[in-house]
Amino acid sequence: MKKFQEEMSFVAIKPDGVQRSLVGEIIKRYERVGLKLVAMKMVVPTADQIEQHYTLDDTWRQVTGEKTIKSYMDKGLTPPSNDPLAITAVILENLKKYMTSGPVIMMVWQGAHAVKIVRKILGGTEPLSSDVGTIRGDFVLDSYQISDAGKRAVRNLVHASGSVEEAEKEIKHWFKPEEIIKYRLVQEQILYDVNLDGLLE
Ligand code: ADP
Ligand code: MG
Repeated sequence: MKKFQEEMSFVAIKPDGVQRSLVGEIIKRYERVGLKLVAMKMVVPTADQIEQHYTLDDTWRQVTGEKTIKSYMDKGLTPPSNDPLAITAVILENLKKYMTSGPVIMMVWQGAHAVKIVRKILGGTEPLSSDVGTIRGDFVLDSYQISDAGKRAVRNLVHASGSVEEAEKEIKHWFKPEEIIKYRLVQEQILYDVNLDGLLE
């Protein structure tokens, strides 16, 4: 039963998140839900590291292009191209500029359903439609329309793994095994133990 609480997600506070002084606010949201921080460092990524990061999942180019086209269509707008791969070629170049522009905080968060919980708290990719109460919904107001017109990546403060498989690849890409710290948090007993024994004196 211990296995489920060992799920990990990779989270990066992007350069705009650091510049907006939201590091503490973002960490607070993941901390207070009960997730455990097991690795953290500040890095200025290289363009190569960013390209590798986004192409670790070989469906990313197709899926992200399709997601962008759908978002334009849903708003009754014409997408910049009907070819998902042409769209992601531009996005990837813009992402390299965005993600190498300043320091990024790289983290690994661990806990039950870590990947899904982290994404839920983060909110959808495009801040214009991210839910209120999420990080992207509460702290930023960008859209694909504005970012595409400005020929830049959409500024949405944080990256988080989209699936458990993606998380495993991303953690390996950014951290050495010894940088992931194995330790116990006292609150895990309250979050996960079957019985709440020993509370009363
Ligand atoms: P997420 O970060 O929510 O997992 P994706 O993996 O689809 O989103 O895309 C990676 C990042 O690329 C996004 O967070 C965003 O910064 C940028 N991006 C995605 N789609 C677009 C787009 N259509 N226009 C500009 N930037 C985009
Ligand atoms: Mg993604």
